[in-house]
Amino acid sequence: MSARNRIFPVFIPHLGCPHVCVFCNQHEITGAAAEEALQQLNSLTENPPQGAAYELAFYGGSFTAIPAEQQLRYLEAAGRARACGAVSSIRLSTRPDAVTEEILERLKRYGVETVELGAQSMQDPVLLTSGRGHSAEDVRRASLLIREAGLSLVLQMMTGLPGDDDAGAVDTARQLIALRPDAVRIYPTVIVRGTELERLWRRGLYREHTVEDAVRVCAMLLPLFEAAGIPVIRLGLNPTDELSGGAALAGAYHPALGELVRSRVLRNLAEQQLAEMNCEGAYITIRVPEKKLSQMLGQKCCNVAWLKERFHLSALEVVADPEVTNLVIEQDPYGALIDEFWSRFPSKA
Ligand code: SF4
Repeated sequence: MSARNRIFPVFIPHLGCPHVCVFCNQHEITGAAAEEALQQLNSLTENPPQGAAYELAFYGGSFTAIPAEQQLRYLEAAGRARACGAVSSIRLSTRPDAVTEEILERLKRYGVETVELGAQSMQDPVLLTSGRGHSAEDVRRASLLIREAGLSLVLQMMTGLPGDDDAGAVDTARQLIALRPDAVRIYPTVIVRGTELERLWRRGLYREHTVEDAVRVCAMLLPLFEAAGIPVIRLGLNPTDELSGGAALAGAYHPALGELVRSRVLRNLAEQQLAEMNCEGAYITIRVPEKKLSQMLGQKCCNVAWLKERFHLSALEVVADPEVTNLVIEQDPYGALIDEFWSRFPSKA
């Protein structure tokens, strides 16, 4: 395991947040309390890990909106963990309206390398109804400052926020791509217990963004980011005991959401290609690289069943083929003839 993928998360739930966004309840999402953060950092310094150093990550709040004095306490503790070799780099997440040149200079002085910006949407009406308290322009301005400061930029977006739709999400993705982030995270909306969104949902003022909704829209977004060479480093909330234990009341909470989305991307690709072939009643073979076989099949072979029904196929086989790099579809011209041949013999069953 490299230092880059050994993350030591330090949760600072809601620290620095000027108010609480309608979908957010960091206490339920992380199960952590802000006071624990410094203790976690100090214990990391006192008991440095065996093996590769960690990447230290401050999550769950608006780091750069915390009063400067308190930020310095965290940064100094992080610096000590870095000095003793327990930590190799530092990343943090924050709000777009809490980024200035001066703040970024301070972060750099303490060795922060990556800033994750909660953009969530580039649609101002969606930002407004979600109680974000910042605009799309704030996202553009902060992204530019972060990149100009020479820091890595990770943008986070959400799908299924109040007032958003598939077209809005696709537009948000295109606008985020234009900001040239080093990576993105996509978080489809989950209705978390104790949030304003829960109250809106219970009063019938917000329609749940289901797992299927999330899979459909994220299967449009993922190819856009990948085509632009921007890695999607997270798809869906990290499963936690709190969320799985009941804090995720409804919405797009699924421990394998990323896998479902990647599987849908392949189904969409196969659908596009089959639509261009005259394949009704045909015998089809889909060849995929070994690592994509289970994604192409889908959970419980759901993609195979869906494509067979969609195109009224006589047979659909999915096979791993080391020779192909993506999906290759072949139609067996003799499949119907062979079936007819065998149908002339009486069955022994
Ligand atoms: S989404 Fe971010 S800014 Fe909004 S309340 Fe949660 S942690 Fe704070």
